[in-house]
Amino acid sequence: MSINSNIIEGIFERLQQSFGLGKTRTYEWRKAQLDALQRLLTENESALLAALQKDLGKSASEAYTTEIGFLLSDIRHTKKHLRKWMKAEKVSTPIVAQPGRSFIQPEPLGTVLIIGAWNYPLQLTLAPYIAALAAGNCAILKPSELAPASAAVMTSLIPKYLDGDAVKVIEGNKDVATELLTLPFDHIFYTGGETVGKIVMQAAAKNLTPVTLELGGKSPCVVDADTDMATTARRIVWGKWTNAGQTCIAPDYVLVERSCTSSFIARLEYEIHRQFGAQPATSGDYGQIINARHLERLQGYLHGQDVIIGGESEPGSLTMVPTVILNPDIESPVMQEEIFGPVLPVIEVSSISEALDFIKRRAKPLAAYLFSEKPAMQQKMVEEISAGSICINDTMMFMANPALPFGGVGRSGMGRYHGHFGFNTFSHHKSVMKRSFWFDVALRYAPSSAKKRFLLKKLL
Ligand code: NAD
Repeated sequence: MSINSNIIEGIFERLQQSFGLGKTRTYEWRKAQLDALQRLLTENESALLAALQKDLGKSASEAYTTEIGFLLSDIRHTKKHLRKWMKAEKVSTPIVAQPGRSFIQPEPLGTVLIIGAWNYPLQLTLAPYIAALAAGNCAILKPSELAPASAAVMTSLIPKYLDGDAVKVIEGNKDVATELLTLPFDHIFYTGGETVGKIVMQAAAKNLTPVTLELGGKSPCVVDADTDMATTARRIVWGKWTNAGQTCIAPDYVLVERSCTSSFIARLEYEIHRQFGAQPATSGDYGQIINARHLERLQGYLHGQDVIIGGESEPGSLTMVPTVILNPDIESPVMQEEIFGPVLPVIEVSSISEALDFIKRRAKPLAAYLFSEKPAMQQKMVEEISAGSICINDTMMFMANPALPFGGVGRSGMGRYHGHFGFNTFSHHKSVMKRSFWFDVALRYAPSSAKKRFLLKKLL
């Protein structure tokens, strides 16, 4: 669907006007909207699941866990803490400003733009919106055109449940996104790849609009020989092949201690079959690739590689089975680009220290994983590896904790959200000082004198 620039501008101006009228600022309005979004998700569960099945072949369980259920718990957490988050925070006031009181008052930014990605099309559009709404903003949501059924269901349901003066969904491709990016939003929250991230940041700079960029990259996973191999493989299989590997925080590749390569690979194969059966492509629990272009890209990664598990793909059904390759050339595309699909390179290393050096020589990842029972190794990983998130002895589970911020560092992105961090991203923390007329120290006023300077030196 395409929409012309005058209409887009008109929508933006209407949202700005309703922000100006102040209705999004009250606790009552925000809470009522969060309740309405909660109802949208619960009353339309089957329509939402059907859209996710259509776009990405997501099973009902996976779609519920990673999209609808995720959003519902985000809403519950937000509602539970919203009053506290909205409160001004009292801070101390130095003696030179006494008598006086100081506090930090969170305030909404205004009208914000949220650009979602296709791999978790509901979660990545609505979770930032929960934060933006909780913080009292108006918003335009631009879902990814690559997941059209999910975009359509949001376009049809959101006006039925949420305040149309405060939120609008605008569907469209990159032309629509480009048009939106010309407008002077108060914040732009983008989820997607690095190349477009740069375009978003450049466009935002023209209006001095701050940005949050939720990008991706190659998230490494290190496996120590001493680990509980059965549970390690089980958790890696879950983290890698949920959504057929199309997850920004999926383990991109594994660095395994050479002494345990064969036991690790055997457990990996066992777990793939345990979770997705002997024919994963036809398992109801295994997803599909978003489109033919991405499937071809993924097939290309296998050329010249030592494929030790899987490798088959089926363009008709857009499926590629869980695939493992051993010791790929580090210069080959599969190790140079983010895989974002069901191909898992396993690379042998002689020690965990070698694995950590390998990670440190590359761009800072969105997530980094270590499976090891050695406290010293765990500590080394936390201290030495810079990543958006680090998870020890599991994959992706940090997403389940709203007390942890989510976002990248360096090439994997900037800014953060989830829980209070999302509220803060969409708020300005305004400093406020209130003085009284009760007492007025004359030290700072002219005319100056040696005595005043002496006292100022004592005070400052
Ligand atoms: P995508 O193709 O869905 O693009 C993301 C959004 O950018 C879409 O809404 C699209 O319309 C818009 N867009 C495309 N071209 C544009 C342009 N020229 N100007 C402005 N907007 C444009 O998603 P993608 O980029 O294929 O997403 C995959 C990437 O996203 C991977 O790198 C993945 O790791 C990353 N990702 C990150 C997160 C995270 O939370 N950090 C989550 C999901 C995906």
